[in-house]
Amino acid sequence: MKVGVSVEQAITLANQNPLLFETEIRNLSDSHNMVLATSLESKVDDPRFDNSAMDGWAVKEADCINPNSKLEIIGTIPAGSSEQIEVKQGQACRIMTGAPIPLGADSIVMIEDSVVEGEIVSINGPARPHFIRKQGENITKGEIGLESGLKLKPSHIAMAAMMGYAKIPVIKPPKIAIIGTGDELIEPGQPLKSGQIYESNTTALVGLVSEMGCEPVKFPFVTDDLNSLRNVFDLAASQCDAILTSGGVSMGEWDLVRRLMEEEGEVKFWKVLVKPGGPPLFGTWKNTPLFGLPGNPVSSQIVFLSIVVPWISNSCGYDSIQGPKLFDKVKVKLLNAAKGTGNKITLRRIQIRGQDDNLVAEVPENQGSGNLRSMIDCNGLTLLPCGIDGKPGDIIDALWLR
Ligand code: AMP
Ligand code: MG
Repeated sequence: MKVGVSVEQAITLANQNPLLFETEIRNLSDSHNMVLATSLESKVDDPRFDNSAMDGWAVKEADCINPNSKLEIIGTIPAGSSEQIEVKQGQACRIMTGAPIPLGADSIVMIEDSVVEGEIVSINGPARPHFIRKQGENITKGEIGLESGLKLKPSHIAMAAMMGYAKIPVIKPPKIAIIGTGDELIEPGQPLKSGQIYESNTTALVGLVSEMGCEPVKFPFVTDDLNSLRNVFDLAASQCDAILTSGGVSMGEWDLVRRLMEEEGEVKFWKVLVKPGGPPLFGTWKNTPLFGLPGNPVSSQIVFLSIVVPWISNSCGYDSIQGPKLFDKVKVKLLNAAKGTGNKITLRRIQIRGQDDNLVAEVPENQGSGNLRSMIDCNGLTLLPCGIDGKPGDIIDALWLR
Protein backbone atom coordinates (compact mmCIF):
# COMPACT_ATOMS: atom_id res chain seq x y z
CA MET A 1 0.00 0.00 0.00
CA LYS A 2 1.28 3.46 -0.95
CA VAL A 3 0.49 6.28 1.48
CA GLY A 4 0.26 9.92 0.38
CA VAL A 5 0.36 9.76 -3.43
CA SER A 6 -0.08 12.57 -5.95
CA VAL A 7 -3.32 12.76 -7.95
CA GLU A 8 -1.43 11.49 -11.04
CA GLN A 9 0.01 8.55 -9.11
CA ALA A 10 -3.42 7.79 -7.68
CA ILE A 11 -4.92 7.67 -11.19
CA THR A 12 -2.07 5.50 -12.49
CA LEU A 13 -2.45 3.08 -9.58
CA ALA A 14 -6.24 2.93 -9.95
CA ASN A 15 -5.88 2.30 -13.69
CA GLN A 16 -4.11 -0.96 -12.86
CA ASN A 17 -7.53 -2.21 -11.72
CA PRO A 18 -9.74 -0.79 -14.44
CA LEU A 19 -13.50 -0.71 -14.46
CA LEU A 20 -14.59 -3.68 -16.57
CA PHE A 21 -17.47 -3.30 -18.98
CA GLU A 22 -19.40 -5.17 -21.65
CA THR A 23 -20.82 -3.91 -24.88
CA GLU A 24 -24.35 -4.40 -26.15
CA ILE A 25 -26.05 -3.88 -29.49
CA ARG A 26 -28.90 -1.39 -29.35
CA ASN A 27 -31.49 0.00 -31.71
CA LEU A 28 -30.69 3.58 -32.66
CA SER A 29 -33.68 4.99 -30.84
CA ASP A 30 -32.56 3.30 -27.60
CA SER A 31 -29.03 4.66 -27.85
CA HIS A 32 -29.42 8.29 -26.85
CA ASN A 33 -26.79 9.35 -24.30
CA MET A 34 -25.11 5.93 -24.45
CA VAL A 35 -21.40 5.67 -25.29
CA LEU A 36 -20.41 4.27 -28.68
CA ALA A 37 -18.29 1.16 -28.13
CA THR A 38 -16.53 0.93 -31.54
CA SER A 39 -15.80 3.38 -34.34
CA LEU A 40 -18.27 3.15 -37.23
CA GLU A 41 -17.42 3.37 -40.93
CA SER A 42 -19.98 4.73 -43.31
CA LYS A 43 -21.70 2.07 -45.42
CA VAL A 44 -22.55 4.68 -48.07
CA ASP A 45 -21.32 7.89 -49.66
CA ASP A 46 -23.00 11.06 -48.39
CA PRO A 47 -24.46 12.53 -50.52
CA ARG A 48 -25.17 9.20 -52.17
CA PHE A 49 -25.31 10.89 -55.60
CA ASP A 50 -24.95 14.40 -56.99
CA ASN A 51 -28.20 16.16 -56.10
CA SER A 52 -29.82 19.56 -56.04
CA ALA A 53 -29.61 21.79 -52.97
CA MET A 54 -32.55 23.88 -54.25
CA ASP A 55 -35.94 23.61 -55.84
CA GLY A 56 -35.25 24.98 -59.32
CA TRP A 57 -33.94 24.14 -62.76
CA ALA A 58 -31.11 21.81 -63.75
CA VAL A 59 -29.32 23.56 -66.61
CA LYS A 60 -26.01 24.08 -68.38
CA GLU A 61 -24.39 27.15 -66.85
CA ALA A 62 -23.26 28.38 -70.27
CA ASP A 63 -26.91 28.59 -71.39
CA CYS A 64 -27.75 31.12 -68.69
CA ILE A 65 -25.01 33.70 -69.12
CA ASN A 66 -27.29 36.14 -70.99
CA PRO A 67 -30.10 37.85 -69.05
CA ASN A 68 -33.53 36.38 -69.74
CA SER A 69 -32.24 33.24 -71.47
CA LYS A 70 -35.12 31.11 -72.70
CA LEU A 71 -34.81 27.36 -72.22
CA GLU A 72 -37.00 24.46 -73.32
CA ILE A 73 -38.58 22.56 -70.38
CA ILE A 74 -37.92 18.84 -70.87
CA GLY A 75 -39.39 17.35 -67.69
CA THR A 76 -39.40 17.19 -63.88
CA ILE A 77 -37.18 15.21 -61.47
CA PRO A 78 -38.62 14.76 -57.96
CA ALA A 79 -36.57 13.55 -54.98
CA GLY A 80 -36.28 9.75 -55.10
CA SER A 81 -36.50 9.64 -58.91
CA SER A 82 -34.45 7.10 -60.82
CA GLU A 83 -35.52 8.33 -64.25
CA GLN A 84 -32.63 8.93 -66.71
CA ILE A 85 -33.04 12.37 -68.25
CA GLU A 86 -30.43 14.27 -70.23
CA VAL A 87 -30.29 18.06 -70.38
CA LYS A 88 -28.93 19.23 -73.72
CA GLN A 89 -27.91 22.70 -74.83
CA GLY A 90 -30.84 25.14 -74.61
CA GLN A 91 -32.83 22.91 -72.27
CA ALA A 92 -33.83 22.96 -68.57
CA CYS A 93 -35.28 20.27 -66.34
CA ARG A 94 -37.43 21.14 -63.31
CA ILE A 95 -35.73 19.67 -60.20
CA MET A 96 -36.63 19.33 -56.52
CA THR A 97 -34.30 19.59 -53.52
CA GLY A 98 -32.48 16.28 -53.04
CA ALA A 99 -33.30 14.95 -56.51
CA PRO A 100 -30.46 13.46 -58.60
CA ILE A 101 -28.87 15.78 -61.15
CA PRO A 102 -29.77 14.78 -64.71
CA LEU A 103 -27.05 13.98 -67.23
CA GLY A 104 -25.63 17.01 -68.97
CA ALA A 105 -26.64 19.56 -66.30
CA ASP A 106 -23.86 21.31 -64.39
CA SER A 107 -25.75 24.01 -62.44
CA ILE A 108 -29.01 24.87 -60.72
CA VAL A 109 -31.13 28.00 -61.14
CA MET A 110 -33.39 28.76 -58.20
CA ILE A 111 -37.12 28.61 -58.87
CA GLU A 112 -37.38 32.21 -57.63
CA ASP A 113 -35.13 33.32 -60.52
CA SER A 114 -37.39 32.00 -63.29
CA VAL A 115 -40.70 32.58 -65.08
CA VAL A 116 -42.51 29.76 -66.88
CA GLU A 117 -44.23 30.55 -70.16
CA GLY A 118 -45.85 27.31 -71.38
CA GLU A 119 -43.09 24.93 -72.52
CA ILE A 120 -40.41 27.57 -72.05
CA VAL A 121 -38.70 28.89 -68.93
CA SER A 122 -37.21 32.35 -68.87
CA ILE A 123 -34.14 32.55 -66.59
CA ASN A 124 -33.51 35.87 -64.83
CA GLY A 125 -30.96 34.90 -62.18
CA PRO A 126 -27.62 33.09 -61.91
CA ALA A 127 -27.02 29.40 -62.61
CA ARG A 128 -24.94 28.09 -59.68
CA PRO A 129 -22.71 24.99 -59.88
CA HIS A 130 -22.46 25.01 -56.08
CA PHE A 131 -26.17 24.39 -55.75
CA ILE A 132 -25.22 20.84 -56.70
CA ARG A 133 -24.29 18.75 -53.65
CA LYS A 134 -21.55 16.40 -54.84
CA GLN A 135 -21.52 12.66 -54.17
CA GLY A 136 -19.33 11.86 -51.12
CA GLU A 137 -18.55 15.49 -50.28
CA ASN A 138 -19.58 14.94 -46.63
CA ILE A 139 -18.29 11.41 -46.13
CA THR A 140 -17.28 8.55 -48.40
CA LYS A 141 -18.12 4.87 -48.01
CA GLY A 142 -15.57 3.21 -45.68
CA GLU A 143 -14.57 6.45 -43.97
CA ILE A 144 -15.00 6.57 -40.17
CA GLY A 145 -17.96 8.78 -39.34
CA LEU A 146 -18.30 8.18 -35.61
CA GLU A 147 -15.42 7.51 -33.22
CA SER A 148 -15.66 5.05 -30.36
CA GLY A 149 -15.99 6.55 -26.89
CA LEU A 150 -18.31 9.40 -27.75
CA LYS A 151 -21.54 10.08 -25.93
CA LEU A 152 -24.32 9.71 -28.45
CA LYS A 153 -26.28 12.90 -28.92
CA PRO A 154 -29.14 13.27 -31.42
CA SER A 155 -26.82 14.29 -34.28
CA HIS A 156 -24.58 11.27 -33.70
CA ILE A 157 -27.56 8.92 -33.80
CA ALA A 158 -28.81 10.57 -36.99
CA MET A 159 -25.31 10.19 -38.47
CA ALA A 160 -25.36 6.45 -37.65
CA ALA A 161 -28.71 6.17 -39.43
CA MET A 162 -27.42 8.15 -42.43
CA MET A 163 -24.42 5.82 -42.62
CA GLY A 164 -26.75 2.81 -42.82
CA TYR A 165 -26.80 1.43 -39.27
CA ALA A 166 -30.05 0.19 -37.73
CA LYS A 167 -28.28 -0.98 -34.55
CA ILE A 168 -25.00 0.09 -33.00
CA PRO A 169 -22.61 -1.27 -30.35
CA VAL A 170 -22.67 0.73 -27.14
CA ILE A 171 -21.06 0.39 -23.72
CA LYS A 172 -23.40 -1.34 -21.31
CA PRO A 173 -23.24 1.06 -18.35
CA PRO A 174 -21.04 -0.58 -15.71
CA LYS A 175 -22.75 -0.93 -12.33
CA ILE A 176 -21.20 1.13 -9.56
CA ALA A 177 -22.28 0.49 -5.99
CA ILE A 178 -22.66 3.56 -3.78
CA ILE A 179 -22.49 3.04 -0.04
CA GLY A 180 -22.69 5.75 2.62
CA THR A 181 -21.25 5.00 6.06
CA GLY A 182 -21.65 6.68 9.43
CA ASP A 183 -23.54 6.29 12.71
CA GLU A 184 -24.76 9.88 12.49
CA LEU A 185 -26.57 9.54 9.15
CA ILE A 186 -30.32 9.64 8.69
CA GLU A 187 -32.35 9.28 5.49
CA PRO A 188 -33.67 12.72 4.41
CA GLY A 189 -37.33 13.09 5.32
CA GLN A 190 -37.00 11.18 8.59
CA PRO A 191 -37.06 12.96 11.98
CA LEU A 192 -33.59 13.83 13.31
CA LYS A 193 -32.42 12.96 16.80
CA SER A 194 -29.66 14.92 18.48
CA GLY A 195 -26.27 14.40 16.86
CA GLN A 196 -27.77 13.12 13.62
CA ILE A 197 -27.54 14.65 10.12
CA TYR A 198 -29.21 13.97 6.82
CA GLU A 199 -27.24 11.72 4.52
CA SER A 200 -26.41 13.62 1.31
CA ASN A 201 -23.21 12.31 -0.22
CA THR A 202 -24.65 9.26 -1.91
CA THR A 203 -27.28 11.39 -3.61
CA ALA A 204 -24.57 13.48 -5.27
CA LEU A 205 -22.61 10.36 -6.17
CA VAL A 206 -25.64 8.79 -7.88
CA GLY A 207 -25.82 11.81 -10.21
CA LEU A 208 -22.08 11.98 -10.82
CA VAL A 209 -21.87 8.27 -11.59
CA SER A 210 -24.72 8.37 -14.08
CA GLU A 211 -23.35 11.50 -15.77
CA MET A 212 -20.20 9.44 -16.34
CA GLY A 213 -22.12 6.81 -18.30
CA CYS A 214 -22.37 4.26 -15.48
CA GLU A 215 -25.32 2.78 -13.62
CA PRO A 216 -25.42 3.86 -9.97
CA VAL A 217 -26.63 1.18 -7.57
CA LYS A 218 -27.36 2.82 -4.25
CA PHE A 219 -27.20 0.55 -1.21
CA PRO A 220 -28.81 1.50 2.11
CA PHE A 221 -26.14 3.34 4.06
CA VAL A 222 -24.53 1.46 6.93
CA THR A 223 -23.53 2.26 10.47
CA ASP A 224 -19.91 2.22 11.60
CA ASP A 225 -19.87 -1.48 12.28
CA LEU A 226 -17.43 -4.00 10.79
CA ASN A 227 -19.98 -6.76 10.26
CA SER A 228 -22.49 -4.51 8.52
CA LEU A 229 -19.75 -3.08 6.32
CA ARG A 230 -18.40 -6.54 5.44
CA ASN A 231 -21.88 -7.73 4.49
CA VAL A 232 -22.66 -4.78 2.28
CA PHE A 233 -19.21 -4.94 0.61
CA ASP A 234 -19.78 -8.63 -0.18
CA LEU A 235 -23.21 -7.92 -1.61
CA ALA A 236 -21.96 -4.95 -3.65
CA ALA A 237 -18.98 -6.91 -4.99
CA SER A 238 -21.26 -9.73 -6.11
CA GLN A 239 -23.67 -7.38 -7.90
CA CYS A 240 -21.56 -4.51 -9.19
CA ASP A 241 -18.42 -3.75 -11.22
CA ALA A 242 -17.02 -1.24 -8.72
CA ILE A 243 -17.78 0.17 -5.29
CA LEU A 244 -17.76 3.76 -4.02
CA THR A 245 -18.03 4.33 -0.30
CA SER A 246 -18.24 7.62 1.52
CA GLY A 247 -16.87 8.27 5.00
CA GLY A 248 -14.81 6.17 7.35
CA VAL A 249 -11.40 6.42 5.70
CA SER A 250 -9.54 8.88 7.98
CA MET A 251 -7.39 8.31 11.03
CA GLY A 252 -10.20 7.98 13.58
CA GLU A 253 -11.12 4.91 15.58
CA TRP A 254 -14.48 4.75 13.78
CA ASP A 255 -12.96 4.94 10.33
CA LEU A 256 -13.84 1.35 9.67
CA VAL A 257 -13.87 1.35 5.88
CA ARG A 258 -10.12 1.86 5.99
CA ARG A 259 -9.65 -0.73 8.73
CA LEU A 260 -11.75 -3.37 6.99
CA MET A 261 -10.01 -2.76 3.66
CA GLU A 262 -6.59 -3.00 5.32
CA GLU A 263 -7.42 -6.15 7.25
CA GLU A 264 -9.56 -8.06 4.77
CA GLY A 265 -9.37 -6.29 1.40
CA GLU A 266 -6.40 -5.04 -0.55
CA VAL A 267 -5.45 -1.36 -0.37
CA LYS A 268 -3.38 0.06 -3.27
CA PHE A 269 -3.15 3.60 -1.96
CA TRP A 270 -4.36 5.67 0.96
CA LYS A 271 -4.25 9.47 1.20
CA VAL A 272 -3.91 11.61 -1.89
CA LEU A 273 -2.12 14.97 -1.94
CA VAL A 274 -5.21 16.96 -2.81
CA LYS A 275 -7.05 19.65 -0.86
CA PRO A 276 -9.84 19.34 -0.02
CA GLY A 277 -9.95 15.60 -0.33
CA GLY A 278 -9.21 14.14 3.04
CA PRO A 279 -7.64 10.74 2.93
CA PRO A 280 -9.28 8.72 0.14
CA LEU A 281 -8.28 5.13 -0.45
CA PHE A 282 -8.39 2.76 -3.38
CA GLY A 283 -8.13 -0.97 -3.44
CA THR A 284 -10.06 -4.12 -4.20
CA TRP A 285 -12.65 -6.05 -2.24
CA LYS A 286 -12.96 -9.63 -3.57
CA ASN A 287 -11.33 -8.38 -6.81
CA THR A 288 -13.85 -5.56 -7.22
CA PRO A 289 -12.27 -2.08 -7.38
CA LEU A 290 -13.29 0.07 -4.41
CA PHE A 291 -12.82 3.79 -3.88
CA GLY A 292 -13.14 4.89 -0.27
CA LEU A 293 -14.16 8.52 -0.64
CA PRO A 294 -13.97 10.90 2.30
CA GLY A 295 -17.15 11.73 4.21
CA ASN A 296 -17.03 15.50 4.01
CA PRO A 297 -19.54 16.42 1.31
CA VAL A 298 -17.22 18.67 -0.72
CA SER A 299 -14.27 16.30 -0.36
CA SER A 300 -16.23 13.30 -1.59
CA GLN A 301 -17.24 15.13 -4.77
CA ILE A 302 -13.78 16.55 -5.37
CA VAL A 303 -12.11 13.17 -5.03
CA PHE A 304 -14.71 11.75 -7.41
CA LEU A 305 -13.92 14.50 -9.94
CA SER A 306 -10.15 14.30 -9.63
CA ILE A 307 -9.62 10.54 -9.40
CA VAL A 308 -12.75 8.52 -10.17
CA VAL A 309 -13.67 10.49 -13.32
CA PRO A 310 -10.29 9.90 -15.06
CA TRP A 311 -10.37 6.26 -13.96
CA ILE A 312 -13.80 5.68 -15.54
CA SER A 313 -12.84 7.59 -18.71
CA ASN A 314 -9.62 5.67 -19.07
CA SER A 315 -11.20 2.29 -18.33
CA CYS A 316 -14.01 2.77 -20.82
CA GLY A 317 -11.98 4.54 -23.53
CA TYR A 318 -14.08 7.69 -23.51
CA ASP A 319 -13.32 10.32 -26.13
CA SER A 320 -11.65 13.24 -24.34
CA ILE A 321 -13.79 15.85 -26.09
CA GLN A 322 -17.05 14.12 -26.94
CA GLY A 323 -17.13 11.38 -24.30
CA PRO A 324 -19.00 11.64 -20.99
CA LYS A 325 -17.27 14.22 -18.83
CA LEU A 326 -17.99 16.51 -15.93
CA PHE A 327 -15.64 19.40 -16.59
CA ASP A 328 -13.41 21.14 -19.08
CA LYS A 329 -9.90 22.21 -18.20
CA VAL A 330 -9.55 25.96 -18.83
CA LYS A 331 -7.35 28.93 -17.98
CA VAL A 332 -8.92 31.55 -15.75
CA LYS A 333 -7.74 34.92 -14.47
CA LEU A 334 -8.12 35.18 -10.71
CA LEU A 335 -10.02 38.23 -9.46
CA ASN A 336 -8.94 37.66 -5.87
CA ALA A 337 -6.41 35.55 -3.99
CA ALA A 338 -6.64 31.75 -3.86
CA LYS A 339 -4.46 30.18 -1.23
CA GLY A 340 -2.48 27.09 -2.16
CA THR A 341 -1.19 24.31 0.07
CA GLY A 342 2.40 23.22 0.78
CA ASN A 343 2.54 19.72 -0.67
CA LYS A 344 -0.95 19.36 -2.14
CA ILE A 345 -2.73 20.41 -5.29
CA THR A 346 -5.52 22.76 -4.20
CA LEU A 347 -8.99 22.73 -5.70
CA ARG A 348 -10.69 25.86 -4.40
CA ARG A 349 -14.26 26.43 -5.41
CA ILE A 350 -14.55 29.37 -7.80
CA GLN A 351 -17.17 31.24 -9.79
CA ILE A 352 -16.08 31.36 -13.43
CA ARG A 353 -17.54 33.81 -15.91
CA GLY A 354 -16.59 35.46 -19.18
CA GLN A 355 -15.27 39.03 -19.05
CA ASP A 356 -13.91 40.77 -22.15
CA ASP A 357 -11.64 38.18 -23.80
CA ASN A 358 -10.95 36.21 -20.60
CA LEU A 359 -12.52 33.74 -18.31
CA VAL A 360 -12.27 35.27 -14.87
CA ALA A 361 -12.77 33.60 -11.52
CA GLU A 362 -13.88 34.82 -8.16
CA VAL A 363 -12.85 32.88 -5.07
CA PRO A 364 -15.51 32.93 -2.35
CA GLU A 365 -14.35 32.93 1.23
CA ASN A 366 -16.10 30.00 2.84
CA GLN A 367 -14.10 27.07 1.49
CA GLY A 368 -14.85 24.54 4.24
CA SER A 369 -14.87 20.93 3.04
CA GLY A 370 -18.16 20.40 4.87
CA ASN A 371 -19.80 23.36 3.13
CA LEU A 372 -21.91 21.72 0.45
CA ARG A 373 -23.48 25.08 -0.36
CA SER A 374 -20.14 26.27 -1.70
CA MET A 375 -20.42 23.63 -4.44
CA ILE A 376 -23.72 25.00 -5.68
CA ASP A 377 -22.61 28.63 -5.47
CA CYS A 378 -19.61 27.82 -7.69
CA ASN A 379 -19.10 26.38 -11.13
CA GLY A 380 -15.38 25.65 -11.09
CA LEU A 381 -12.34 24.50 -9.16
CA THR A 382 -8.80 25.86 -9.16
CA LEU A 383 -5.92 23.55 -9.96
CA LEU A 384 -3.30 25.31 -7.87
CA PRO A 385 -0.04 23.32 -7.97
CA CYS A 386 1.67 22.33 -4.70
CA GLY A 387 3.07 25.28 -2.79
CA ILE A 388 1.64 27.94 -5.12
CA ASP A 389 -0.68 30.72 -3.95
CA GLY A 390 -2.84 32.34 -6.62
CA LYS A 391 -2.65 36.16 -6.61
CA PRO A 392 -5.23 38.53 -8.12
CA GLY A 393 -4.51 38.78 -11.88
CA ASP A 394 -2.74 35.39 -12.09
CA ILE A 395 -3.82 33.14 -14.95
CA ILE A 396 -4.20 29.63 -13.58
CA ASP A 397 -5.51 26.22 -14.64
CA ALA A 398 -9.02 25.40 -13.50
CA LEU A 399 -11.78 22.91 -14.00
CA TRP A 400 -14.99 24.38 -15.39
CA LEU A 401 -17.73 22.17 -14.06
CA ARG A 402 -20.63 21.29 -16.33
P1 AMP B 1 -15.91 10.75 8.01
O1 AMP B 1 -15.06 10.76 6.79
O2 AMP B 1 -16.74 9.52 8.14
O3 AMP B 1 -15.10 11.02 9.23
O4 AMP B 1 -16.92 11.96 7.87
C1 AMP B 1 -16.44 13.28 7.75
C2 AMP B 1 -17.59 14.26 7.87
O5 AMP B 1 -18.49 14.06 6.78
C3 AMP B 1 -18.42 14.13 9.08
O6 AMP B 1 -18.80 15.41 9.50
C4 AMP B 1 -19.63 13.34 8.65
O7 AMP B 1 -20.76 13.55 9.44
C5 AMP B 1 -19.81 13.82 7.26
N1 AMP B 1 -20.41 12.80 6.40
C6 AMP B 1 -19.95 11.54 6.27
N2 AMP B 1 -20.72 10.83 5.44
C7 AMP B 1 -21.69 11.67 5.02
C8 AMP B 1 -22.80 11.53 4.14
N3 AMP B 1 -23.02 10.38 3.50
N4 AMP B 1 -23.61 12.58 3.95
C9 AMP B 1 -23.36 13.76 4.57
N5 AMP B 1 -22.32 13.96 5.40
C10 AMP B 1 -21.50 12.93 5.65
MG1 MG C 1 -17.84 8.61 9.53
